Formats: sequence, structure tokens, C-alpha cells
Amino acid sequence: MSNKYVYFFGGGKADGNESMKNFLGGKGANLAEMAGHKNLRLPVPAGFTIATDVCTYYYKNKRTYPKGLKEEVQESLEAVEKLMGRTFGDPINPLLVSVRSGARRSMPGMMETVLNVGLTEKTIPGLIKQSGANSRFVYDAYRRLIMMYSDVVMEKAAGIEAKDDESGIRKQLEKIMAQMKKDKGYKSDTDLKVEDLKKLCSQFKSKIKEALGKDFPDEPREQLWGGIGAVFASWNGKRAISYRRIEGIPDEWGTAVTVQTMVFGNMGDDSATGVAFTRNPGNGENQFYGEYLLNAQGEDVVAGIRTPAPINAYSQSEHNKGLVTLEKVMPKIYKELFDIQKRLEKHYRDMQDIEFTIEKGRLFMLQCRVGKRNGPAAVRVAVDMLKEKLITREESVMRVTPSQLEELLHPVIDPKAELAKKPLAKGLPAGPGGANGQIVFSAAEAVEWAKQGKKVILVREETNPEDVEGMRAAQAILTARGGMTSHAALVARGWGKCCIVGCGALHIDYAKKELHADGKVLHEGDWVTLNGTKGNVYEGQLPMMDACEENKIFNEFLKICGTIKKLGIRTNADTPEDARRARQFGAEGIGLFRTEHMFYGKGSEEPLFRLRKMIISKTESERRKALDELFPYVKKDIKGTLEAMDGLPVVIRLLDPPLHEFVPREQVKLEQLAKDLNISMEELAGRAEVLHESNPMMGHRGVRLGITYPEVSEMQVRAVFEAAAELIKEGKHPYPEIMIPVVADVRELNDQIAIFKKVYQEVLAKYGLKQIKNMFGTMIEIPRASLVAGKLAEVAEFFSYGTNDLTQMGFGFSRDDIGTFLPDYIKKGILPEDPFQTIDQEGIGELIKIGIERGRKTRKNLEVGICGEHGGEPRSVEFCHRVGMDYVSCSPFRVPIAKLAAAQAVLKGKSGKK
Ligand code: PEP
Ligand code: MG
Repeated sequence: MSNKYVYFFGGGKADGNESMKNFLGGKGANLAEMAGHKNLRLPVPAGFTIATDVCTYYYKNKRTYPKGLKEEVQESLEAVEKLMGRTFGDPINPLLVSVRSGARRSMPGMMETVLNVGLTEKTIPGLIKQSGANSRFVYDAYRRLIMMYSDVVMEKAAGIEAKDDESGIRKQLEKIMAQMKKDKGYKSDTDLKVEDLKKLCSQFKSKIKEALGKDFPDEPREQLWGGIGAVFASWNGKRAISYRRIEGIPDEWGTAVTVQTMVFGNMGDDSATGVAFTRNPGNGENQFYGEYLLNAQGEDVVAGIRTPAPINAYSQSEHNKGLVTLEKVMPKIYKELFDIQKRLEKHYRDMQDIEFTIEKGRLFMLQCRVGKRNGPAAVRVAVDMLKEKLITREESVMRVTPSQLEELLHPVIDPKAELAKKPLAKGLPAGPGGANGQIVFSAAEAVEWAKQGKKVILVREETNPEDVEGMRAAQAILTARGGMTSHAALVARGWGKCCIVGCGALHIDYAKKELHADGKVLHEGDWVTLNGTKGNVYEGQLPMMDACEENKIFNEFLKICGTIKKLGIRTNADTPEDARRARQFGAEGIGLFRTEHMFYGKGSEEPLFRLRKMIISKTESERRKALDELFPYVKKDIKGTLEAMDGLPVVIRLLDPPLHEFVPREQVKLEQLAKDLNISMEELAGRAEVLHESNPMMGHRGVRLGITYPEVSEMQVRAVFEAAAELIKEGKHPYPEIMIPVVADVRELNDQIAIFKKVYQEVLAKYGLKQIKNMFGTMIEIPRASLVAGKLAEVAEFFSYGTNDLTQMGFGFSRDDIGTFLPDYIKKGILPEDPFQTIDQEGIGELIKIGIERGRKTRKNLEVGICGEHGGEPRSVEFCHRVGMDYVSCSPFRVPIAKLAAAQAVLKGKSGKK
């Protein structure tokens, strides 16, 4: 622990700087940077930050503070007083402060804040004087302090749990205020007069005494330390903990506390407060974008209580276009703000999210941090900033996370269906893409329904940090109030979730669980569909589709990734259509063509029937006859795929699954088969029975089929070479790589390569060709294969890791049955995550490494790839790069994600293939 706990900032100086985030929290570090960096020195209200290790100490030492902290706080407070020309607790010219949280990583709204600290009966007259005799403002500030302090410090931080939503102290005080407004016939808080506010403050104090058994502390230093303690306590508050779990933020980090001079955006119509982004966080356009409220405090903007106005014409929307812009109301201040945000972006070289307050015509910067953005915005900002030479190519690639990129591949509402439907309501487009689901009205219900496997849309007046888990569980979020910077919008944007906010036409009746809009009433469980990109809400369940439309910026970004990555990116595709689509996504070949897939789905009836005949055949001649019939189908499919991937490698795997999987179960199909083979039903049943295995995944499958029925391998190899030969004759450039599955020993490969060589020569002769570019290789999906990889590489020219089976057989976990036990393994922390989703680097990863090492010892230029499902999962891709694979192969839609992950793997500096 360092021996300095408190870091001052203000007046063009600061003890800390931006690089000290771990220590000062994001907020504290950035305030120090804004206040003290020689290129910035922005108008930041003076203050100080108490470091995060005080929080760690606090929790390790029964909620006490380290020695010397009090003195340091006092010293910094005096420095602030000196700079501001005001004194904390002084009746004539008092200093008021805010007390705020700030962790290393932003946790929006998850911890507590106390404002107006230092305001007491004694200091009230002083503040009235400072505000130009605005007593109403001062008593309003006082009633806000009492409400916030009693809630945050006296109730929550003291560990007092309110029985329900209605019984917390804050709610009770709100009720008193509502009652007063009702009695007086006031509509809004701003109608309350000075005398009303004075009376409210004293009613509040009595209520607090009655409900919490303690007086509201009217002593400045007690308020200050109460506030500091409450912020530290809120690090372990319920919602902060659940947010940390979701975001993977470690508990040990702790929060810093920033104590800062209060500036007031609610001192009259020459005051305001707002939130802005240096670029549009919804789509990334390079335009200053934000919202503000005249005569208001910061919390009013974020809480979504009043609809904020746009700062400039660009920020206008359907929702707020009637409201006058800051640019119009305060042109000089707007210009100052505009210049500051430009400087900030240049300084930080990233999009910034800033909070500002205007007090009596003077601009103050309260906060700046890297702005959260959705996927489309992240990609656009990364590409634009590179073009603007603000960042390097490498930085550009690191600015987009794989999950943000995934958002661009998110489903959207089928545009045709959408066109035909009139929206039920319109709101602000806070999170992109489309979603449909059944409506629920509380976060708890969202969690519950989602657990039951239902797709839900969480509908709220507005969301607050308590709702995070429900927001997470929902497909999408819909709120009636709030702007683009409201809590719901911020959180959804961070997660890339479809979200619509500020949908003013909705009327929500929580008690009846009803949603009223456009003269209609929807009930809990009714379906709605949201277009989060446009902000449209539709009744019912509209069809969704993939957003694979041409996107210029998306492609530009992938090109940048392409210049950095070392791994090849192939795709797993089983049909010519899949192959074409994957090629559009930038696939550089096929890493796995599963032959058996031509016997499933559309158009498979005919070939399947012939395959079944082959399976049920008893003698070789019967089987050869069936294979001859099957041959043209197999050849046609392979030819189509080789053609779609012309010039690129296509790994074609010979038949893998256990044969009994293809035996029909329906009576009519069985009868057809018996008839065609000219055998009785009893005979057929007998032959099918023979195929039965107790453990088929470890039974007669993969290469074992080719060993027992060489003619099956022969037919397939011939189909591949003839398809390639025909394409060559047509002037194309096919490149098949024939792959043998489920291999455990080199002698299996020897057996199969003999067939391969014989057929290859026969096909060359038949077509009068000298050669067909090709490779012969094996899958590595049995642990033994990894260990004897040195031997296998004597025959195999390439390896492809089948990590699905390798994980299955490495762990001894049945791929098809993990649902019964894996959730418990994860819950109990026995496994950190599902090894079928991300490679278990510790165990299965070792098998992979050993195999590559031994294989390349035998054959230096051995090609190595992966074709298990892990090939499209970012952390596994990084692993594949690190262990020196040549390529990864994944489903077509994951190709862009794998490409980004492969580029990021290079930049993370881990060694790849030499
Ligand atoms: C594998 O086992 O990883 C693989 C790709 O093959 P399949 O999933 O078809 O068994
Ligand atoms: Mg396999």
C-alpha cells in the first residue's frame, strides 16, 4: 500500500493523472487529467480523490480507515477551500461538495453518490447569498440532500433493508412531497415555493427520525464522512455485486471516492446540466451528440425524469425536436463546450462521454471517460479514426470487441414484414437490431420467464440499476421515459442489446400488468417486436432475419483486420450455398465439408435412399451396386462446393457418423427399402439390428467404416477427384483436401491412402490429366492421435483438429449428454466454463500442442487447422494462433468474428506460427 491516500485536483494542477485508473478509479483519474494535464487544464471544479486501496483496507479492517486518512482529507479540503475562496461549513461563504464513487471500470449507476454535502441550517444563509438571494434554489438543494442522504447513507449504507419498494425512506419522503403537491394543486416539482420547501425539509427530518430512529446530521463534517463511508459501502451493495458478476469485474478492485466542489446547474435559467458524446454512440458518426436540461441537476438527465433537450440540431430526434438546443440558448457556452470536446477527443484519441454543468453562465466539466458504444458505432469510430490519422491500424483493430462485431451480424426484423405493419409506438433507437418476445413488467419476472426458456421483452417506465439482471435476461428493453443517455440506453448500448427508450406514447399500468398504446391494451405475455435501430415498436411477433446486407464500413474494418492477422480463416460448409455465403463473409477456404450432410434436409430424399441401400447391403456386390447409384449425387454436391470455392482449399471429410444413424424408422420407408433390395421385412430388420451399437460415438464410425468397407472410401475419393477433374476441364482451379476422420493410428491412414493413390491414378488416366492439386490428411480428434502425431505425419500432409470429439474423448464427457451434469460443474466452480464452447487450454490445449509439435517434427510444412466448434470462439482463436496453427475454420456467420480475433491475437503479442 502506498502511503498517499488522497489526490488533489483543481486550478490547473493535479496530483494524479489518467494513467492512475487502478488507483484513482476511472472518474478520479480522468478528473485529474482534465484538470492538470498541460494540454487540457479544463474548467474542472476543484476536489480530491481517495484512492481505491482505502476501499480495500476498509473491507479488510472491519470497515475502518487507515491511519492518516483523516489528516490527508483535511489537508486536501483546505486546498480546495483556498482555491474556491469558500470554506466547508462556513455560515457566510460555505463550500459544498459532492461525494461520488468511481471504480477502475465504469459501473454506470451501480454505486452511490451524495450531492450538496455541507449544506446545513447554519450554512443555508451563506448559500442564499452566493446564489444571488435565490432562497428557493437553496431550500430545494437542502431537500434533495435530505432525501439522498437519508436513503444512501442512513438507510442503505447502514444495512437497513426496506421491506419492499414502497417502504424505503426515499419513497416515504417522496410520498410526503407528492401529498404537498396534491394539496396545493401543483403539477411539477418546480411549482413548489420557498415556504413549501422549508416545510418539506422539516417534515422530512421528522419522518427520518421516526422511521430510522436517528436525526438527520446537520453537521458538515459528519455529512462528509457519512457520504464517504456510504460510497465505500455501496461497492458491496446488491446491484454493484450483480453488475460485477455480469461484467467479470473482480471484487478486490474496490472503488475510489471523489469529493468535489458542487457546481449547480439549477441556479436559474442561466444554468444547465448535460451529458454528451464526442461522436454519436448509436452509429459512430463523427458528430458532437448530446442532451441537456436547463435549470437542473445532473441526476435529472440520467434518471430520465424530464425529457432532455438536444444540445445541437444534429442531436434532434422525433422525440425531442420541439425543444430548443443549447447551441441556440447559450451560443457562447456551446462553442466553448464544442472546443473542449474536440480537445478531449484529440487528447484521449478515443470517443469520449462527457458530463458538464453550467452555473450562472459558467461552464464546468464534471467528468469524461471513454464513451460506451454499440457495435455499429464501434466499427465506424475505429475505421474513421484511422482515416483521420488519430489512431494507428493496430489501435483501430483493438477498438472493436468480437461481441461488438457480432452485433452487426445480429438479426433484424424482416424488412418486408415490417413495411406491412404500422408501429404501435415510436421511441428512441437506443440499442440496434431487432428482437421479439413476450412482454413482462418487472426485472424479476424477466429473469424468471427467461429461466423457463421464454423470450421476453422487459417493459418499464424507466429502468434503474436494480433492474440489471432482468435487462440481461431479456431479449430487448423498452422504456416509456428517458433519453439516449438514460440508464436503460447506457446499459443496453454497453451490452449491444436491442433497446428502445423514451417511448412516450406507452402507458404502463404495473398493477394490472398492462401496456396501453395507440388505443390498444397488451397484457403480460403478449408478443411485441422491436426495431432498435429505428425505435419502432410493433404488436405481435414479426419474423426476423440475419443482417448480412452489404455494409461498406464493416467490410473496410475486416480488411484492416485482414492486413494484421496471420491465421487463415476458413469455414465449415456442407452445401454450395453455404460455401458461397461464407466466401462473401471473407472465408479463405473450407476447413470442413461434412459429407454426410448431403443426406439431411432439402433435396436429400434420393441420395439418402441410396445411402440406406448401401448401409443395409449384406454382400460387397450388393454394396457396390448401391454405391454406384449413390456416386453421381456425391460427385455433384462436391463439385458444386469446389466450384463455389474455386481456387481455395476445400477440406472434404469422408463419411464419419455411425451407419445406424441413417437406418429409417418409419414403416413406409422400411417397406420401400425392403422392396428395392428384394428382401423380406424380417431380413431387413435382422440386418438393421446388426448395426445397433451400445456406444455408437465410439463405435463403427469414421475411418473404421473405410477399413471394413474400403469400397465406401473408394466411391467418395473417386467422387472428389472426378468432380475436380471435370472442373479442371472447365478451366477452374479446384483444390480438394481429403480428410480421414476418427483416426487413432498411422496404420489406419496407410490403409486408406492406398485406396486414395489407386483412385487418383485411375482418375488422372480417365481424364488425361497430369495432376490434380490435392492433399491427404487426417483429423486429430482422439487423444491417442495427438500423442502419435509424429507417426501420423509420415502419411498425413495436414492435420485438422476436431476439438468437439477431442474434448469429448479427452474429458470422457459425452458431447450429447453434458446437459445433465455440466451446469453443476460450472456452478460449483469445478470447471470455469463449458469446454465445448471455449477450448480447455490446460488439458485439451496441451494435447493440441503436443500433436502440432510432434507432427511438425516429422513433416516441417505440415498444415494444421481446427474445425471443431471452437474455431469461431475468440479466446480459442487466440489460442490457435499462439500454438502456431495455419488456419481456423468456423460456421459462415462467425467468419468475421474469427478474423477480428485472429488479428487481435497478433496484436496481443503472443507468438504464432514462425
Ligand atoms: C469434431 O469432432 O470436432 C468435428 C469437427 O467433427 P464432428 O463434430 O463432425 O464430429
Ligand atoms: Mg468429430
